[in-house]
Amino acid sequence: MTVNLLDFDLEGLAAFCEGLGEKRFRATQLFRWIHQRGASQFDEMSDLAKSLREKLKASAHIEALPVLSQHISSDGTVKWLFDVHGGNAIESVFIPEDDRGTLCISSQAGCAVACRFCSTGHQGFSRNLTVGEIVSQLWFAEHFLRRHLKRQDRVISNVVMMGMGEPLQNFTALVPALRVMLDDHAYGLSRRRVTVSTSGVVPMIDRLGQDCPVALAVSLHAPNDALRDNLVPLNKKYPIAELVAACVRYLKVAPRDFITFEYCMLSGVNDSEGHALELVKLVRAQSSAGNWCKFNLIPFNPFPASGLLRSPHAVVLAFAKILNAAGIVTTIRKTRGDDIDAACGQLAGEVMDRTNIQSRLSKRGTIEIRPENAMAPFGSKDTIND
Ligand code: SAH
Ligand code: SF4
Repeated sequence: MTVNLLDFDLEGLAAFCEGLGEKRFRATQLFRWIHQRGASQFDEMSDLAKSLREKLKASAHIEALPVLSQHISSDGTVKWLFDVHGGNAIESVFIPEDDRGTLCISSQAGCAVACRFCSTGHQGFSRNLTVGEIVSQLWFAEHFLRRHLKRQDRVISNVVMMGMGEPLQNFTALVPALRVMLDDHAYGLSRRRVTVSTSGVVPMIDRLGQDCPVALAVSLHAPNDALRDNLVPLNKKYPIAELVAACVRYLKVAPRDFITFEYCMLSGVNDSEGHALELVKLVRAQSSAGNWCKFNLIPFNPFPASGLLRSPHAVVLAFAKILNAAGIVTTIRKTRGDDIDAACGQLAGEVMDRTNIQSRLSKRGTIEIRPENAMAPFGSKDTIND
């Protein structure tokens, strides 16, 4: 078995090159070939000595996860389903906007947190993704999109860890993967444009602040412990007061001067005027200006097993108005990729039914889309423009 070079951050690659008897700076060249140019064959790497290329061929490979399917929404959103083996699949979503291109990435197959309103949570936990499996989503999406949009420059400017899984419960793989995203010799993304979203693993918020501070989003969803215990079971371990204290500590090292709170709007559950006023109190208890955080209200994407409903738009607007009036910047998330089920919490839609995935996997020959043959449908539909 040779090693997959997508598993390494630059430090790891340098150590690997040293192990081959090569100078560390070779790792930088190699890293640039892989991540900046999307090379997957060592023979493409024309400025590396032939002897090194031969050594690499014998000991390493560069391989993204196999693509099970690719869907392109009429609004330009692209969703990929990747095979992570053992009957599991994960999803990534690309969301183009006028001024940015955002890739939503998964960190685990399934999730152990089991939030009531999340279909990944209902699916249960399968396993952590490796560094290479996390990086692979960005490597594949960036180079695929560049080819198809015929762009030389970077397509993906932002990464959000808001796909399947709880990133802070896969910390050892998360941090090297983030380093690859940030590295100037790889994707060179700004720390402000890489966001880790967490349901509130308090000790790991502090670790992230020490090891790799990037933008932080916290999935709050409730203004008090009684309700949050019910929606986000992890709250029983790390209640709101501890979570808010961790957010405030994080601000000292964060690349942005605010924390984003995500709040999924569930009809009749957490969306009343009273809940909004309770949130205002919670935020103001930290700082009366209320400007240390922002709220992003997410319209709930329903799925039958949840037994929950989306709050009506007027209710979401009224909720946002109360927060905004109290000086707390609040936005309402636009739903994108509705026609391809690419919205938040729907990412596991197809994956939930294991038998479905098993049958897809067994028929992979017929549905797998590899980068080469994925080109035609993508190019011909021409649904992504910038
Ligand atoms: N595990 C992390 C990141 C992945 S979930 C976390 O929970 O933050 C990304 C966001 O999607 C979270 O805010 C989550 O609460 C939200 N989400 C999950 N299921 C959803 C659904 N059905 N509708 C709307 N948002 C949902
Ligand atoms: Fe896991 Fe996040 Fe879904 Fe909760 S919302 S179950 S933490 S992926």
